[in-house]
Amino acid sequence: MTQVSTGEALMAYDEVVAAYDPVMGLEVHVELGTATKMFCGCATTFGADPNTQVCPVCLGLPGALPVVNAIGIESAIRIGLALNCEIASWCRFARKNYFYPDMPKNFQTSQYDEPIAFNGHLDVELEDGSTFRVDIERAHMEEDTGKSLHVGGATGRIHGATHSLVDYNRAGIPLIEIVTKPIVGAGERAPEVARAYVATLRDLVKALGVSDVKMEQGSMRCDVNLSLMPKGVAEFGTRSETKNVNSLRSVERSVRYEMCRHGAILAAGGAVTQETRHWHEDTGITTAGRVKSDAEDYRYFPEPDLVPVAPAPEWVEELRASLPEPPAQRRKRLQTAYGFSDLEMRDVLNAGLLDLIEESVAAGATPAGARKWWSGEIARRANAAGQDVSSYAVGLGVGPALVVELEGLVTGGRLNDAMARQVWEGVLDGEGSPTQVADARGLQLNRDSGALEAAVDEVIAANPDVAAKIREGKVQAVGALIGQVMKAMKGQADAAAARSLILERLTQ
Ligand code: ADP
Ligand code: MG
Ligand code: ZN
Repeated sequence: MTQVSTGEALMAYDEVVAAYDPVMGLEVHVELGTATKMFCGCATTFGADPNTQVCPVCLGLPGALPVVNAIGIESAIRIGLALNCEIASWCRFARKNYFYPDMPKNFQTSQYDEPIAFNGHLDVELEDGSTFRVDIERAHMEEDTGKSLHVGGATGRIHGATHSLVDYNRAGIPLIEIVTKPIVGAGERAPEVARAYVATLRDLVKALGVSDVKMEQGSMRCDVNLSLMPKGVAEFGTRSETKNVNSLRSVERSVRYEMCRHGAILAAGGAVTQETRHWHEDTGITTAGRVKSDAEDYRYFPEPDLVPVAPAPEWVEELRASLPEPPAQRRKRLQTAYGFSDLEMRDVLNAGLLDLIEESVAAGATPAGARKWWSGEIARRANAAGQDVSSYAVGLGVGPALVVELEGLVTGGRLNDAMARQVWEGVLDGEGSPTQVADARGLQLNRDSGALEAAVDEVIAANPDVAAKIREGKVQAVGALIGQVMKAMKGQADAAAARSLILERLTQ
């Protein structure tokens, strides 16, 4: 066991998984991308001046009456359906009563024992290609809180601050909270399962188009519950709940950390405290938050100011029928259709290029060409600019049609590959379409067969050793001669034509 800076002991991971079975519970909050808030017409624009997107309803002023956002309900149902949940035919909102300065109403409008969606599952794919099913307890609707800002201290935390400010712009923005059933049986793969679940959920919600699910901006946040059971014991242990774990990597690391921390406590004969924990991204550890019992009294009661939600079965079926293809399935389908290797596909996904490639192929590009042009120079430039390729391309006004045009110049025999690269750089530099750039830069393969023949003969004559090798059957030596032909023709030779001509001269 090793000591960490908090003084808490950690058991080695291998020892933990040898002696205990982990149980996890993941609670994920997704902020919907609706134009207005959940119960009022206030705008939801991110980054607006503080307290400019508020009204009597979301400020909880006396007498204000909420009205539910229909798109919020629709989004919740679509998320529920995508998670294979049952959809309630009738459910209500509830008041969750507690005081906190960022919550002006003194209660959060949420759902309690009547969630809109329940009893679902999500299949997640692990690194080794196997599938792990995570059962979903519920997905319910609620509203976000405002944001507190602590001023005057060094850290931005309340400790050491001289005063605090509150911004209520976020108060009332619709949230969907998705809660898993206890995840058992993941064993040593628990950290990986947690990460894969959150990643799969993020992709799914993104494909639904109901949220931008940016963990780093807080539009998707995850609380990680974890406990350990000694091997052979079926009863769950006491859990800790690590709050606001805001990246996929942190989800994985925090599960692993808590497993090691719980393991050390249990192995020493101690008892785990049921509490919330704070995750520290920089040090990779958790520290104690507040002690939390299972019987927290929020004095939940049905919200009297909102009518119950009773989605018509026909509408639910319509929404079910219009669900997008699940992302994992789409990725598999496209990989097969495009003939990408696993490695190529992984690079495409990591660079976020699949949509662009799909659009380019639909516009007439070859899959290999689309992959090549979107992952080369433009990806490098987007990366240097700190942007993803699609938004960078939109900013430049560069779209699939230009990739199709560029490929056409190559297949049509006007440009060789090296020329096409130059043209693409010109396009990215804002010099115009591929044809315009090729015209302006005078890029054009030399189609004069006499010139090519002359260059080939000259190069063969100047390189008798290489020519002899090729005559003996060492065809791979041809590359050296092609390079020289290219040089002799100032880069304007068609490499494929040069190759066949050289081979014709030397092997026939
Ligand atoms: P809370 O209000 O305390 O956050 P929830 O029921 O909303 O409680 O969420 C608790 C999460 O933890 C759920 O995902 C649940 O499946 C999971 N869970 C419950 N008991 C345990 C346990 N002993 N160990 C690990 N996870 C647990
Ligand atoms: Mg919780
Ligand atoms: Zn409002």
